[in-house]
Amino acid sequence: MLKIFLPFAFAKNVYEIDIDFYKKLGVDTIICDLDNTLEAFYTPNPTQQALELIQKLKNSGLRVIIISNNRRKRVETYCKNLDCDFMYSTRKPLVYKGKKFMKKFNIVPEKTIYIGDQVFTDIVFANRLRLKSVLCDNLVKRDQFFTKFNKFFDKFFRRKMKKKNLVPSWEEILHGINEQN
Ligand SMILES: [Mg+2]
Repeated sequence: MLKIFLPFAFAKNVYEIDIDFYKKLGVDTIICDLDNTLEAFYTPNPTQQALELIQKLKNSGLRVIIISNNRRKRVETYCKNLDCDFMYSTRKPLVYKGKKFMKKFNIVPEKTIYIGDQVFTDIVFANRLRLKSVLCDNLVKRDQFFTKFNKFFDKFFRRKMKKKNLVPSWEEILHGINEQN
């Protein structure tokens, strides 16, 4: 399979990932996709669960940046009370805006992890920017309109990756690091 589609790790969702995973990888910045990764696309404001997660990450010294292809209004409204940086209308998997954001926010690829729910937009974007990435399952079943191709493509590649065991889970990676030490 083409490397460009492969995430660094799998996760069921962003909420289950242990902070130790980031710490042991030497990560200081988390770039998290908004719709269907951090929150359902139809939820305009952060849920308690999201507020607690972001607070927990920040308290651990991690910088959180929220990223989205969605419009400014959606992203700004959501991030209003979160006190963290965000990027809207990113146009993933295209990287011309992403590169600008990387500069603006002083993102060091080796110390950054990207978390998203879609192979074709999130993972390709992260790989093109040389960022480690975590591919999550969709947070909610209902999704915004995507082309049939996009959904088909996503399912197809996930199934392949799982069948061929190409990508470890974040737990397996953390376990591996702990074993080495
Ligand atoms: Mg998404």
